[in-house]
Amino acid sequence: MTTTVVIGGSFAGMTAALEIKRKGKDKHKVILIDKSPLFLFIPSLIWVPFRRRDIKDISFRKDTILAKKGVDFVNAEALNVDVKNQIVTTDKGDYKYDHLVVATGPKVKYDIAPGVAEHTHYIGTPNGAMKARTALEEFKKNPGPIVIGATQNAGCMGAAYEFLFNVEKWLREQNIRKKVDLYWITPEDYLGHFGIDGMPMGESMLKSFMKMFNIHYRTQVGVKEVTENKILLTSDEELPFKFSMLMPPFIGVDFVTNSPDLHATPTGYISVKDSYQHVDYSNVWAAGIAVNVPLPFTPSKVPFASPKTGYPSDETGKIVAENIIRVTEGKTKLKEKAWGKIMGLCIMDCGKKEVIIFSDHLFKPRNFAVMIPNVIYDFNKLILEKYFLWKTKNGYSYLP
Ligand SMILES: Cc1cc2nc3c(=O)[nH]c(=O)nc-3n(C[C@H](O)[C@H](O)[C@H](O)COP(=O)(O)OP(=O)(O)OC[C@H]3O[C@@H](n4cnc5c(N)ncnc54)[C@H](O)[C@@H]3O)c2cc1C
Repeated sequence: MTTTVVIGGSFAGMTAALEIKRKGKDKHKVILIDKSPLFLFIPSLIWVPFRRRDIKDISFRKDTILAKKGVDFVNAEALNVDVKNQIVTTDKGDYKYDHLVVATGPKVKYDIAPGVAEHTHYIGTPNGAMKARTALEEFKKNPGPIVIGATQNAGCMGAAYEFLFNVEKWLREQNIRKKVDLYWITPEDYLGHFGIDGMPMGESMLKSFMKMFNIHYRTQVGVKEVTENKILLTSDEELPFKFSMLMPPFIGVDFVTNSPDLHATPTGYISVKDSYQHVDYSNVWAAGIAVNVPLPFTPSKVPFASPKTGYPSDETGKIVAENIIRVTEGKTKLKEKAWGKIMGLCIMDCGKKEVIIFSDHLFKPRNFAVMIPNVIYDFNKLILEKYFLWKTKNGYSYLP
């Protein structure tokens, strides 16, 4: 019996754990450790501030389905790992493993600039999304300028763009759009770079959206400081605001940085081969955001990162599972797919409109890449949400 400990039970970790058990059956014991008992469909958090979703609509307890599929769930926080002795220490005890999968996602670097944590909102957590909801209710009573964007070193620009267009739509619904100067700030070299060096027509499409929705924008800017009602940009321009949402950078979680054996990068990510096997250990694997993905481009003015989205997170979870099975069967040929060669598949919600982003590879060179706008309704994004929640609730981890 091979024991695999998976740390983190979201897009990457839940997929990896279920797939190891599905493929390995009784020859594999799988222990999934997560500090949260809930599975949360993070992409729908962008709708929570506008009451289009409540947290309960987009989350469910993961222990039931894991138990049904034969995966042992431990609701604990992993503190560190001793790779030599193959032991993970958690706040609820130690766990010995034959294989370890690190799928711990990101930690948000709120201290990227003074005042970001104190004066701006972040909608990437349930708490943060609910705080933004309350703040927008207050804002409605006495509107003013809004600044939305991403800070230097951020990589998850897509979610911030989605929030921007949803705010714009919400302002119109509240009949206060004319009272609000709406600003977009981004470290990207150009609109629609998205940390993947753009898509054909992407820049012109986003420029036309900004014009159509009367949104002012600044590219190649970072944040120097935020005070109660002003953002000082690296260009030395000051933007006043009454409400602001900024996407800070993501870094590796404390479990990784507190485990020197993992030899993480300075930003706390794990360097892996194209098989997602640790570069230094054959029984340690990483999947999802925890993976170190070298930048496929050089930002020309302000640093920013590449996004690590849901599809590659799920896909790397599957690759890791397949490879653990192969290794335990004594096979030496592993499945390999570099992060940048995974298919690009994303739907950017634009406030009851959407843009479908599809390419054969996430990073260039690509053989095909398209951005298809849908101005009728964001039904593809809704279908994706329903599909993903259905798939995960039922443990159908083998589905795309
Ligand atoms: C606001 C927002 C919107 C997004 N929208 C989209 C979108 O539209 N499309 C898309 O493709 N992607 C989107 N993403 C990105 C997507 O959410 C991520 O790609 C995905 O969540 C990554 O999955 P993961 O499993 O690697 O990490 P995560 O989903 O972050 O999961 C990490 C898990 O590890 C657990 N964990 C962490 N540390 C420990 C520890 N020490 N001990 C135990 N457990 C631990 C956490 O509790 C969590 O369950 C969005 C992200 C944000 C923030």
